[in-house]
Formats: sequence, C-alpha cells, structure tokens
Amino acid sequence: MTDDVVEHRRLIIAGTGIAGLTAGIYAARSNNDPLIIEGDEPGGQLTLTTDVENYPGFPEGISGPELINNMKTQATKFGADTRNGIVADVSKEPAGHFRVELTDGDAYTADAVIAASGASARTLGVPGEDELMGYGLSTCATCDGAFFRGEDMLVVGGGDAAMEEANFLTKFADTVYIAHRREEFRAEDVWIDRTMEKVESGEIELLLNTELTEIHGTPEDGIDHVTLVEHPDGHPTEKLDDPATADEVEEYDFDVGAVFFAIGHTPNTDFLEGTGVETDDEGYLITEGGRGGNQTDTGVDGLFGAGDVVDFHYQQAVTAAGMGCEAALDADEYLTERERAGELYEVEADAAAADD
Ligand SMILES: Cc1cc2nc3c(=O)[nH]c(=O)nc-3n(C[C@H](O)[C@H](O)[C@H](O)COP(=O)(O)OP(=O)(O)OC[C@H]3O[C@@H](n4cnc5c(N)ncnc54)[C@H](O)[C@@H]3O)c2cc1C
Repeated sequence: MTDDVVEHRRLIIAGTGIAGLTAGIYAARSNNDPLIIEGDEPGGQLTLTTDVENYPGFPEGISGPELINNMKTQATKFGADTRNGIVADVSKEPAGHFRVELTDGDAYTADAVIAASGASARTLGVPGEDELMGYGLSTCATCDGAFFRGEDMLVVGGGDAAMEEANFLTKFADTVYIAHRREEFRAEDVWIDRTMEKVESGEIELLLNTELTEIHGTPEDGIDHVTLVEHPDGHPTEKLDDPATADEVEEYDFDVGAVFFAIGHTPNTDFLEGTGVETDDEGYLITEGGRGGNQTDTGVDGLFGAGDVVDFHYQQAVTAAGMGCEAALDADEYLTERERAGELYEVEADAAAADD
C-alpha cells in the first residue's frame, strides 16, 4: 500500500442515501467490511422530506430522516463504518483493485466499489438563478418552504416532485402557482388528484404551457418577481426562439416571493470517469439489469451501481433500497470469487514489494 493511502477496505460504498445504507447493511452482514462515504448530502434525498408514506412496513408513514437514521444504525450495528467526505475520483489499479480519492486528499484502496451516489436536483440556468439560489430560490420545498410563510410561491415542474412540493407549500403560502411547460402533467394520478383538490379550494393555481425565463430580486431582499412566457401549444421558450412563432408567445412579469425548482435530477457520476464506466446520455450509470444475478454490474470489474444514480425511471426509496441490496449481493459474489482465486489485493505483499 502506498504511503498516501489511509486504509484498504474490501468494499467502499459511495453514498449514505437509502441505496448506500441498504448495501451497507447487507455487506456488513456478509463480512465484507464496508466503508460508506457520506458525500455532500449525508443521508441522501430522503433527509429533505418530512413524511414518507409509501415505504412498506410503516402504515402511519415515517419521516425521511428517521428512516435514514434507523438504517444507518442498522448498518453500523453490523459493522459498517461511515465517514464524512466526498469521493473525487475512483480509478482501477493494475493489480485489479480500486483507488478511491476524496476531495479532502485522503485516499483508500478497495477490492470492490458500489456507487450509490444518487442524483442532484436540476436547475434551469435562467438569469437571476445563481444570485438568488438560497435567497428565495430553492430546490427543496420541505427544507425551505417555511421561510416564506404568507408569500405567493411558484413551483416549476410537472412531475411527482412538483406536485408533492406544491401540495406541501400550501401549508405556508398565500397561493402556490405551478408553472408547467405543457398542458398535461407527468405525475402519478394520486398526486394530480391531490393537486386538483387544492386547485378547487383555491390554494393552488396552474400556469400551464408556461415557462420561467428570469428571476428578479436581490440576496438582501429576496425575490421580487419573475418573468414568465406562455404559448397555447406549450414549450413557449422553444417557440420564442423560432422566428416563425416568437410573436405568438406572451411574456409577462409575475409577483412571487419564492420559487422552487422541481424539474428532475442529474446523476452524480463525475467521480467515476477514471474507471471508464459506461453512462447514458444524461450520465446515469448503465448496469447489466435483466434477470438472474449480477444485475448491478457496471461492466467495470468490481464496480456496482445502485439507486437513483442508475435508475432514471422509478426513483423511489423502496426501489433504491432494493438495488442497494442487489449491489451488495453482487459485490459479495464478486469478492468471494476473487478471494477463492487468490486475486484480492494483498496490502502486505504490496508494502513488502515497495520496501524492496
Ligand atoms: C423532497 C423529496 C421527497 C421524496 N419523497 C419520497 C417518498 O415519499 N417516497 C419515495 O419512495 N421516494 C421519495 N423520494 C425519492 C427518494 O428520496 C429517492 O429515490 C432516494 O433517496 C434515492 O436514494 P439513493 O440512495 O439512490 O440516492 P440519494 O438519496 O440521492 O443519496 C445519494 C447519496 O450519495 C452521496 N454522494 C453523491 N455524490 C457523492 C460522492 N462524489 N462521493 C460520495 N458520496 C456521494 C450523497 O451525499 C448521498 O448521501 C423523495 C425525494 C425528494 C427529493
């Protein structure tokens, strides 16, 4: 082991979201000595939500942070270690093991790695966004909604997250507006029904075929108003860019005190570039999938993927936990086979070779 390496582990897991912690529980119980690295969002996305109503086994629901804390306790009870830190780079060494470098300069080696690094909230890239993020603009209603009590609030998006956030924000807002670039929502029926009930009661108003193009305000005073564009056929910014339809787009200022983006996520896979792992066009990890074992194999020997960093479609707590379990079982099989073949990384042998 080279001097700068803190420690060698059989298995390193990137991420303490529900996928990483489930992988940690299984891996610890299989004596694979996992080290789970927290990343910049310890506990993952579930720590941003108050009530999880659809995780099996909790008929009354459970708070996201409580569910995550329970899982962390369960993983550490069986011997998993967790540590603060963000993985900056993973690379495959000639001997077949991995080198895992953290942004704080620490490095580890590991025989196998599970990427359970989730996905981060997407932003629009409109003027005012960088300046006002955290000063009226947020990607997490459950975290920040209460700061804007009594204000009119705008949620941007048309999927489950947008509906959930808009419904949650009615607790605090004067009126919640949902700006969606099309006529139809992509959300589950249950969320659309709940939203329509609040539309009927006047708590939520829909701004369909509408997009946000600018946010106005200052960090000192927060958001003053936004600029919206609307076209009856939807996707108004595309129509605005086309000289043939630009005149048909209505542009107007709209007063709101807070804006919440709920427009999807970007998978956290940059730190895996050095492994040459395959990703799709949006950066989601591509895994074997299909039937039988090894479904979480990424195609890089010993590197497995689990949760929202792979799954662009379901993105649920229970599916992420399920994939975390699969990844730990796949990693166990891989480690067992390498051990049987005498191919696990031998720290002492490497140190002795370095001394010669
Ligand atoms: C507001 C909100 C409410 C939700 N409510 C529900 C719900 O009620 N029911 C439901 O089923 N689902 C819900 N979801 C979705 C659910 O939270 C996700 O599907 C689930 O958290 C995905 O788990 P994960 O472990 O794959 O990823 P994440 O939860 O995203 O965790 C990723 C982890 O990876 C870490 N990480 C990232 N990059 C690195 C790095 N470079 N190095 C090390 N670690 C890294 C992060 O710090 C984090 O710990 C909700 C999501 C949100 C945002």
